[in-house]
Amino acid sequence: MDELRLAGTKAATIMADHLANIGDGPVWRPVPDAEKAWLTAQELPETGRPLDDLLEDARAHVLPYPMGNGHPRFFGWVNSPPNPAGVLVEPLAAAFDPSCAGGDHAGPHLERTVVRWLAGLVGFPHPPGGGLLTSGASMATVICLAAARQRAALADGWDAREEGLSGRAPFVLYVTEEGHSCLHKAAQLLGLGARHVRTVPVDGAYRMDVGALRTMIEEDLAAGLRPFCVAGSAGTVNSGAVDPLDEIAGVAAAHGLWFHVDGAYGALGVLADDAAPHYAGLGRADSLALDPHKWLGVPVGCGCALLRDPGAARAAFSLVPSYLIDDNAGDLGWFAEYGPEQTRPFRALKTWATLSHLGRSGVERLVNHTTGLARTLAAMVEQADDFELLAPVTTSITAFRHIPRTEGLDALNRAIPFAVQARGNAFLTGTRLGGRDALRACFLHPDTTENDLAVLLDEIRLAAKTL
Ligand SMILES: *Cc1c(COP(=O)(O)O)cnc(C)c1O
Repeated sequence: MDELRLAGTKAATIMADHLANIGDGPVWRPVPDAEKAWLTAQELPETGRPLDDLLEDARAHVLPYPMGNGHPRFFGWVNSPPNPAGVLVEPLAAAFDPSCAGGDHAGPHLERTVVRWLAGLVGFPHPPGGGLLTSGASMATVICLAAARQRAALADGWDAREEGLSGRAPFVLYVTEEGHSCLHKAAQLLGLGARHVRTVPVDGAYRMDVGALRTMIEEDLAAGLRPFCVAGSAGTVNSGAVDPLDEIAGVAAAHGLWFHVDGAYGALGVLADDAAPHYAGLGRADSLALDPHKWLGVPVGCGCALLRDPGAARAAFSLVPSYLIDDNAGDLGWFAEYGPEQTRPFRALKTWATLSHLGRSGVERLVNHTTGLARTLAAMVEQADDFELLAPVTTSITAFRHIPRTEGLDALNRAIPFAVQARGNAFLTGTRLGGRDALRACFLHPDTTENDLAVLLDEIRLAAKTL
């Protein structure tokens, strides 16, 4: 182990240098062809190589070509920089290397605490066993919708796991156009059929039109379909909008529907002083997907599914073969009974470390700082003649567009993100919002400053001049 001790010490230095110097380099740059060839075309070595060589290769060929999310001027998609505490313990989790499927060892016990902390932070009810860590919110969504599907079938007196869905009235899921693609993927994977996912209209602030939801449910019932779940968003990717959760909860309750909330990115926004009122009703949901690897900055990947009734997830997934029977597992059983994963990585350690390092006040500071940046950028956009705000700011995303001329604005704004990225001084991505090509900047980095916002607008102006 002397080789590991020596190389590990060096790795710690490389890691710290990388994080310390990230702001000095370009946010992103294309991988040169020679480096691409190194990354893609190398052959498996016949004989094993020393640890130190691997570190040198990583330093020379991997670390110089980041995605960009560690940089304070990275505003693309929803990708945070890694929290140093999470980075610190990742190698420990690997050295410890348990499977957190279940059992009496540190991993599953710590996961119980982390899940309880996450539920507590956002004010979601948390009975024992009411959640588990996942690869991300996509997998958390599969778990929550599978629980919803099985609960609906059992309520109707049949078992979806046993029978499959054929011959039954189709289950219908309700989401808005702004709902994340993972909701559609989960619905398709669960055999619901894309045609049974209803697109509920949104209002001018890109929030679910609850009156329209009510009408659609009634029409589907009249047509002999089986509405079973409505999925609201607590922070959309496009504009950070939060659906009227309390009203949706009321409609779901009136029709006996499962109420799922996609808070992958935005659930923590409830901790922002001025955003909190938008989250009323979050605690009434049956399930909530929340990504520690988004706003919190836990190194990728870590998602979380929170469930009001843990038994619903267990009913959808528990399948314990003879070689996994554990008579000492207690009432809650194993985590592997609550989702599709069997061997499960030790995600709890990096999440515990990140939350402990930040503390509740640190999480609140981070959320308030980043939502404040989004509001400041919105104000700058509104003051500028050559920019236009496209949606109100609720969380830490600002949706806007560049309007230096009157024609060809869709094509221009569609081309701007890559042109900005290629300049290397800032990174943002685009979308379509209300039928228009838009720019959106998402703020998650604790070190982003107001000066960085001015740089972003100037970079957009400079990039646009070349288009
Ligand atoms: C990231 C995200 C997802 C998907 O989660 P993954 O962790 O990428 O699987 C779902 N919804 C929203 C709003 C997101 O930001």
